Order: sequence, then structure tokens, then C-alpha cells
Amino acid sequence: MVKLIETSTPLTEDGSLILYTWTNDEGKKAFWHSSAHILAQALEALYPGVKLTIGPAIENGFYYDVDFGDISFTEKDLADVEKKMLEIARGKHPFSIRSASKQEALDFYKKQGNEYKVELIENLEDGTITFCDHDNFTDLCRGGHIPNTGIVKAIKLMSIAGAYWRGDENNKQLTRIYGITFPKQKELTEYLELLEQAKQRDHRKLGKELELFTFSSKVGQGLPLWLPKGAALRERLENFLKKAQKKAGYEMVITPHIGQKELYVTSGHFAKYGEDSFQSIKTPHEGEEFMLKPMNCPHHCEIYNSKPWSYKDLPKRFAEFGTVYRYEQSGELHGLTRVRGFTQDDAHIFCTPDQLDSEFKKVIDLVLYVFGSLGFENFTAQVSLRDLNKPEKYIGDVANWEKAEQAIINAAEAKGLNYVIETGEAAFYGPKLDFMVKDALGRSWQLGTIQVDYNLPERFDLTYKGSDNELHRPVMIHRAPFGSMERFIAILLEHTGGNFPLWLMPEQVAILSLSEKYEKYAEKVLNLLENHEIRALVDNRNETIGKKIREAEMNKFPYMLIVGEQEAKDGTISVRKHSEGDLGTMSVDAFGKMISEAVRQEIKEFNN
Ligand SMILES: [Zn+2]
Ligand SMILES: [Zn+2]
Repeated sequence: MVKLIETSTPLTEDGSLILYTWTNDEGKKAFWHSSAHILAQALEALYPGVKLTIGPAIENGFYYDVDFGDISFTEKDLADVEKKMLEIARGKHPFSIRSASKQEALDFYKKQGNEYKVELIENLEDGTITFCDHDNFTDLCRGGHIPNTGIVKAIKLMSIAGAYWRGDENNKQLTRIYGITFPKQKELTEYLELLEQAKQRDHRKLGKELELFTFSSKVGQGLPLWLPKGAALRERLENFLKKAQKKAGYEMVITPHIGQKELYVTSGHFAKYGEDSFQSIKTPHEGEEFMLKPMNCPHHCEIYNSKPWSYKDLPKRFAEFGTVYRYEQSGELHGLTRVRGFTQDDAHIFCTPDQLDSEFKKVIDLVLYVFGSLGFENFTAQVSLRDLNKPEKYIGDVANWEKAEQAIINAAEAKGLNYVIETGEAAFYGPKLDFMVKDALGRSWQLGTIQVDYNLPERFDLTYKGSDNELHRPVMIHRAPFGSMERFIAILLEHTGGNFPLWLMPEQVAILSLSEKYEKYAEKVLNLLENHEIRALVDNRNETIGKKIREAEMNKFPYMLIVGEQEAKDGTISVRKHSEGDLGTMSVDAFGKMISEAVRQEIKEFNN
């Protein structure tokens, strides 16, 4: 058992010691937790009478919720608080933790008239209460600090927001102050630069600028509308995966967007998610009840059940770009990454237990092919296994679980994945393998997933006839390399900043005429490019060439072709590459070959 202690706590028992530093998550947590104390002290010093409530460390930094009472506090005041915090930090005040009796703790905050801390303490057990002191400041605290305030060298208070006490909107609204601190000024500068870049690459911003998708309050929140360019992009991605899947032995299926409630009762989804999902749709006369499809698996199980199978027919691999609907609270919705309707690049593989090993390897090959073709080079995998101490949590027989877990580990090893094993993280119905990618800004995203399922074959009574002529249960594998089209495109947008790989670009080339006089020649170039299967458009507006180039650059066209008198006479084009500049003059044919070759380099054929 790991026991968290302060760096100043005397070691009185035997054991091994782990030192957490800035490079560990635990170390960062202590750093930011300690920084929250510094913020609280600064606020108390600058705004006497302010009431402190809670101030935890979060993923990036920390916050403190405070009741300013009658004092007005705005973002403009953050700079003064930062200054005060730096002054406190420079004092190198040690943090020290001490126990307090419940009465002592209550008295301390009652004297201050702080009803929030009093409420917190009332819910604590006597004997477990501790205070943290530094300089002349004291806060109720469970511990986990850096040695002294001097280690905090760089401070930035990011923003303020309203927050209800205990998250309950019936309670008083408090002011939440978000901040982040670092042990070096350089790290803060880098962090702020990264934030700015992330803002520029926000998929909601880029999606609008590149006219890929939109939302309409009339259609409804969380329901993306794909514009022509976005739809073309999606289609290209789908075709890319369909082609590879066909080679990998998948068969496409199509299922409806709704299913009878009974279907989800059978699958178990209704019992688990029914109350928190879109409610059922009823027919006017027959009294039938339907649900919007939250996942494609139950439908695919019934496709499997449409005829009897022999072991010789397996594995069966049914794939579908299936659109599903899941209720998310409106406050949780976010661009394309949290939506209420989305399309999964879904497939279900039905195989014998002995085929699990090779099926897993094949799915991994496909996932790696997808990532490689889209420029995601930096990824890790997580193998989620069962908790052996809690067998009651899992369905399916133990021998099968062992087989499946071993199959996943074997496949991860054989494919040379950079993976971690997480015990206890498996779903109740089977172990799984998830892929996490790091984008160009170093942020982690969860993408594709491969999951073994012993539950649905049981619930849908799926069978195949074995070589022994007896009926057996197939194993089911759920897999989705992209995860969902919406989420994947959002991540791809943020990863590439809108500069998609050439093969995927909705429009690869802008033909810019020097003046309207060259329209005919520009059209001719366009036709020639179409013969090379290059997607291009002509900008023949009566604008200066400088303006046309600037706009084409902004719209992320990978190539710009400038055509004027000389080019029309010689039958050539002047080529510019996005963010690189002039590539010189060449024939349309030479350009066509260059682009085809570049695309071939990006997207290799999938070899099974
Ligand atoms: Zn503390
Ligand atoms: Zn599924």
C-alpha cells in the first residue's frame, strides 16, 4: 500500500520510498495543490474578509472557489493577485502539516465566519483532520505538498468562472479562479504558446473556416451537419477504410437507425443505459416501442443469427458505418468530440475461441495501417485485463478469459506495440485493447478500440456447429479504428491544423488565373488535372494574383498553379506549394505525375 507523506515527515517505519517530482503526475499534483494554498493566501491578504472554500489541483494547474461577498472581483484583478503570489513564493516559506481536533478546526473557521469550511469540517471524522501552515497562512488540508513556496517560480492565473458551492445550483454562486504554476519561467512560456497553438487549431474554428461542418439550433444541439466539403472528406475516409477492410475479409452490412426496445432489453443496454438515453419512440396504432440505436452490435448479432453457421464459415466480419445516437447533457457537448449523433466505423467479428489470436493480429494490422496513412506516428496502446481478485465482476468462463487476454498480449507483442497493461480495466464482458495517439501538440487522444465480448453471444444465443457436430458459442470482437468519424475528423483537424495529407484534401489544387483573359487556359488545365484524378478548382475572379495566393494559402490548398500569358503560350503552369513557395514552371503532365507519386507515397495499399 502506498502512503503519501510530506517531504518533511520523519520516516519512522521500514519500507520503500518513492520520491515524486515535477516529472510525475503525483509530483505535479503536489506542486499545484501547494500553489492553490499560495493563491488562497494572496487572496486573503489582498481581500480581507474573502471566504475560501475548496481549491484542488486539476489536470493542468489548480483552482480555488471563493466567496468574495460584496467585493467585486474581475479578470482585471488577476494580475495583482499573481504579483502577490510571486512575492509569497519568493519568501520560500516551508509547508508544514499538523493535526487538529474537530473542535479546534471548527473554532478556527467559526471565528472567521467561514460557513463553507465549517460545513466541510462537520462532515469529517474527528482525528482525521489536518491543517497546513505556511508563512502566516493556514488552510484545511489533507496534505501532499512541495517542501516550500520558493519552488514555484512562474505563476499564471488563467481565468475566472462562476461555480456553485458543492456544484449545486440551489447553493450560492462562488468565484472560481483558475491558475497554473511551473518550476521554471521557460515552462510557463512554452505552455502558454501551446495553448495559443491549440486555440488556432481548435477543430470548431477550423471546421468553420474550411466549411466542413456546421450546427443548427433548429436541427438540435450536438447533431453535426456536414457541408459538401466535409461530406467529401468523410466519404474519402470511409472509402479508404472500406477498401482496406474488403482486402481484410470484411463484408459490409447496413442496419436501421432504430430498433425495437426488446432488442436492447436482450442486449442488456436498456437495463444499463435506458434511463439516461433518448426515450423510446412509439407507433401511433400498434403500441410498438422503438429506441434510437445507441450501438450497432445488437443489430449485427441478429444478422449473424439470420442463418446457421459451421466452424468452417468462421470468422465472419460484418462492417458498417453505422450512425448511433446517445444522449449527452447539453452542457457536455463539444464540437465534434462530444455529440449526440455520430457514425462509428464499426465492425463485429464472430470467430471461434482458437481464432482470437490471429483475428486480433489482423485488426491491429488494420489499425496501424489507418494511423500510418493519416500521419499519426506517435501512439501507445493500453491492454485492459480483468481484476483477478473480483471474479464476480465478469461474465464468461475463466478459461476463455485467459485465452482472450493471452491473445491480446500475444498480438500486442507480435506487432511490436508500445503498450501498457491495466489490470481491472477490462469491461465486464471482456478484455480490450485501446489506442491512444499523441497529436502534433503532444496532447493525448483515445482513438481506436478492439474489444472481446463473451456477453452478447450469450444474450443473443449465437452459435456455430463445431467439427464435433455440436453447437458452440462464437466469440465476438468489436472494433473501430477511427472510433467515430466525427471524433476522428476533429482530432485529425487539430493534429494537422487543417493541412490534411494530400490524398485526403477536399481540394488539392487551386488554379489561379493572372486575369480573366486566361480563363480558357485555366479551364483546360483543370480538365487535364481531372485526367490525373486530381481535385482542383479555378479561381478566375477579377482580383490581384497576390490576393488570390493569400486566400488559397489561408484555405490550405496544398498546391497553387498560376496561369498567365507565358504559361498559356507554352502550355505550362507555375507551381507554388502551400507554405513553401515557388516550385518553378512545369508541364501539366509533369505536375500530374508529381502529385500522383506524392499520393502514392502517403497511402500505400493495405496488404493483408
Ligand atoms: Zn495542502
Ligand atoms: Zn459493438
